[in-house]
Amino acid sequence: MKKILNYINGKLVEPATQKWLNNVNPATGKDYSLIPDSDASDVEEAYKAAANAFPSWSTTPYAERSQILTKLADLIGANLESLALAESIDNGKPVSLASHVDIPRAESNIRFFASAINHFHSEAHIMEDRGINYTNRKPIGVVGCISPWNLPLYLFTWKIAPALASGNTVVAKPSEVTPMTAYLLSELCIEAGLPAGVLNIVHGLGPSAGDAIISHPKIKAISFTGGTKTGAYIASKAAPMFKKLSLELGGKNPAIIFADCDFDEMLKTTVRSSFANQGQICLCGSRIFVERSIYTKFKEAFVAKVARMKAGNPLDPSTKFGAVVGKDHMNKVLEYIQLAKEEGGTVLTGGNRIFPEDEACAEGYFIAPTVIEGLDYMCRTNQEEIFGPVVTLTPFDTEEEVLKMANSVEYGLAATVWTSHLNRAHKMAQQLESGIVWINCWLVRDLRTPFGGVKSSGVGREGGFEALRFFTEPQNVCIQLTS
Ligand code: NDP
Repeated sequence: MKKILNYINGKLVEPATQKWLNNVNPATGKDYSLIPDSDASDVEEAYKAAANAFPSWSTTPYAERSQILTKLADLIGANLESLALAESIDNGKPVSLASHVDIPRAESNIRFFASAINHFHSEAHIMEDRGINYTNRKPIGVVGCISPWNLPLYLFTWKIAPALASGNTVVAKPSEVTPMTAYLLSELCIEAGLPAGVLNIVHGLGPSAGDAIISHPKIKAISFTGGTKTGAYIASKAAPMFKKLSLELGGKNPAIIFADCDFDEMLKTTVRSSFANQGQICLCGSRIFVERSIYTKFKEAFVAKVARMKAGNPLDPSTKFGAVVGKDHMNKVLEYIQLAKEEGGTVLTGGNRIFPEDEACAEGYFIAPTVIEGLDYMCRTNQEEIFGPVVTLTPFDTEEEVLKMANSVEYGLAATVWTSHLNRAHKMAQQLESGIVWINCWLVRDLRTPFGGVKSSGVGREGGFEALRFFTEPQNVCIQLTS
């Protein structure tokens, strides 16, 4: 069986532990590769390599760092098809999604930060005739990047690109559930000429390899994307060591639909914002609030469209809806559907495990896209993150009422508002407790904008110069002017 290897000090190596984990293809339910079950000793080797590489990489002219990263972006683009195929097999997502979204975005992430570092600047504060302050933004040192399974290469590169561009060296751990494309990226890093030790990728479980990164006394910053519980644990471990932390966590996003919206555009996009990547995108809208006057019209049109969505073998280019990421995750989502019924919800479509017509997928982990109505907005189904192909429908009468329901959750990552009323759109955006608000659209991304959530959805912002600021330490230099 194919072995995924760690990438340490510029080389692809087996774990010191010589222990391996099975990597499952969620569409077939079958093991198909082995992953290093790394522990603290592998992380220590990765740290040493990163620490050795730091003096040289941090003083490499930014234009040169930019060139190497641009080469890496070019190589991702040149290998788009094989990377998309690997992502689809590893994650269960349709290969069409991986080749149109995940891999192009991974390429853009690297290319964007390779370019952004050429434009990054710091501030000066002039004290009339007394002195000049300037801010010296220095790379931090060795930093840790930990990413989740839902958008594997996309979110992995979203972290490592700004970290590397700003002159840090990195110890990174992708999710053990979907490690393949990070491994393939390490091969491309070697081809791109990234100096040894600048990026180190350690594969393994969160509680062993991940924990060793966050607990390492000399890894000075952690950029983490994943669940809120894991984020809270990381904060509790890292804060007493005064590590810099960027935490991108869970969501329970509202989609708010007013009667005056462009109905057809809204309907098409709401199907996507509910079920893209089988609902496993932190930005998916899982609570759909619909103004009462169009509730029945929306419900009928939406359910009809969703019921027509066919799950298929993710490797078939025509498949739009694939497998969820694994057996445990599938069972968790199915338990939430059961809970919704116990809480009084009515399943309008879906609600169960399904098997596509392809024999290869006979033991795969597929759940029908599920729409539920009739739940109280405060019930567990409407308050807890499910992170699967499940949405709830709730009618509302007034702006005040829908704001109260939308803001009632502990999360605050992304919200979507559908209305043609300009003032209302601004007013809603102002009052929504959410790091991102999309008006009449969803997942329209400009990589320069601040990305992140409020409340239990996270701390800090990624994207654009925000990410470069996170990965640098500002030092104020004050020069007194003498007459
Ligand atoms: P997890 O929190 O389970 O895991 C995220 C990463 O952290 C994985 O690499 C995991 O490793 C690792 N990890 C787990 N435990 C520890 C630990 N004790 N110390 C260090 N690292 C650890 O999240 P999921 O992978 O399940 O991802 C889904 C979650 O991510 C959802 O809540 C979703 O909302 C959120 N998310 C947020 C986004 C945002 O931008 N705000 C974007 C995308 C997803 P391992 O896989 O081995 O457990």
